[in-house]
Amino acid sequence: MNHKEALKAPIFKTISEAAELLGAECYVIGGFVRDYLLQRGNAKDIDIVIVGSGVQLAKTVADRLEGKPKVTVFKNFGTAMIKGDDLEVEFVGARKESYDRNSRKPIVENGTLKDDQNRRDFTINALALSLAKNSFGDLIDPFAGLQDLENKCIRTPLEPGVTYSDDPLRMLRAIRFASQLKFTIQKESLAAIAKHKKRLKIVSKERIVDELHKILASPKPSIGLSLLHKTELLPYILPELIALEGIEEIEGQRHKDNFWHTLEVVDNIAETTENLWLRWAALLHDIGKAPTKKFHKKIGWTFHGHEFVGSKMVYRLFKRLRMPLNDKMKFVQKMVLMSSRPIVLSEDYVTDSAVRRLVFDAGEHVEDLMTLCEADITTKNPRKQRRYKNNFQRVRNKIVEVENRDHIRNFQPPISGAEIMETFDLKPSREIGVIKEAIKEAILEGTIPNEYAAAKEYMKEKGIALGLSPKK
Ligand code: ATP
Ligand code: MG
Repeated sequence: MNHKEALKAPIFKTISEAAELLGAECYVIGGFVRDYLLQRGNAKDIDIVIVGSGVQLAKTVADRLEGKPKVTVFKNFGTAMIKGDDLEVEFVGARKESYDRNSRKPIVENGTLKDDQNRRDFTINALALSLAKNSFGDLIDPFAGLQDLENKCIRTPLEPGVTYSDDPLRMLRAIRFASQLKFTIQKESLAAIAKHKKRLKIVSKERIVDELHKILASPKPSIGLSLLHKTELLPYILPELIALEGIEEIEGQRHKDNFWHTLEVVDNIAETTENLWLRWAALLHDIGKAPTKKFHKKIGWTFHGHEFVGSKMVYRLFKRLRMPLNDKMKFVQKMVLMSSRPIVLSEDYVTDSAVRRLVFDAGEHVEDLMTLCEADITTKNPRKQRRYKNNFQRVRNKIVEVENRDHIRNFQPPISGAEIMETFDLKPSREIGVIKEAIKEAILEGTIPNEYAAAKEYMKEKGIALGLSPKK
């Protein structure tokens, strides 16, 4: 089969000519070909394999391109890269790989195209299009990858046990592709993953997290997450989630299975936001429930303080996975910590002051928090479902109303410490903090509006009550 139309971009002609000049066979391979055949939009990452030297090809191509772009050479891998404005082309010499059991790094020798296709992870990633002049666009598909694309199947070119144990990162890649593309992993492959799960230990945390991000960013993350569960890889990655699995029953009282509930919440939120960190918050919002679970004879199951415990666990989890301990982590912590606040509000009559406090505490993230809480509704009872949604809509409306009037979101104290010192002729002292806090509280409670004049009046009253006297 010929797919010339995949190779319309001028870069392919340039590469073809350069390869001809070097007298070597050359192909586009992997993700670009797969995504073209799936019509997933034109990929910006292009992988080129040459039966010869990738570095030499890259240099020859760069020489023939306008502006002579820089070639980045990765000596250790024998590969080279050219980066354009919206294009990244990687050049690699076809190779044969053999593996050592203790690392993901193979021993590499030069090889044929077939050798190179053999070392690829999946049949759908081993598809190649020829760039030779007389066969330009011909598909080379030794493992029936095209058929697997049609059947939406993830399968390895070699015996699955070999492919996964050689490089256990492929186990996560299989699951990630299944989640991204909504493909099924072939039965033998799935069994091999489960069998070799322990090999995940030799994969770096960074690579594991990369794949986790991609699973979470996929349209229905529960596909990937439940495969991680089914293959028993999850305990090696996120034991906190596994601890949520199961339903306990005492004296006829049951709690829900918080693992499967969490997966539903993540799917729900994936429908309303692309924000990866908000998706992480959904994934982790209940992790504090395992260590806080208790049964009480009178009231049944409780998870007191799980939000606080959960937010502490987020830090340890990020640290263990070598994820950044920056504002993203703090955002996830904050979402977990506050994850029940709007729920409490929506169940009760909503007072303005409760809404002001919510907005004050959530600040710029109040919408994200509401999105998380709405995703948390997983009841199958349509009446309850509707009632909860309506309640949250009420809270949202109230947030808008209160915000328009009181501007709490980016709260700045209307009276500064300097003005308090000036008014009462004070040196820096404890009283200043007390007065400032009292003003903030009065605004949040609704005793006074969030305005300068009212706050100034209130400051004077408070100061006098503390035994201070305003300067004349
Ligand atoms: P995407 O870029 O969308 O994540 P991709 O298939 O292009 O998908 P890359 O990581 O860019 O994935 O890798 C490019 C190609 O290199 C793959 O299509 C595959 O053929 C091969 N490849 C990547 N990682 C591995 C691996 N661990 N084992 C075997 N082959 C791999
Ligand atoms: Mg790619």
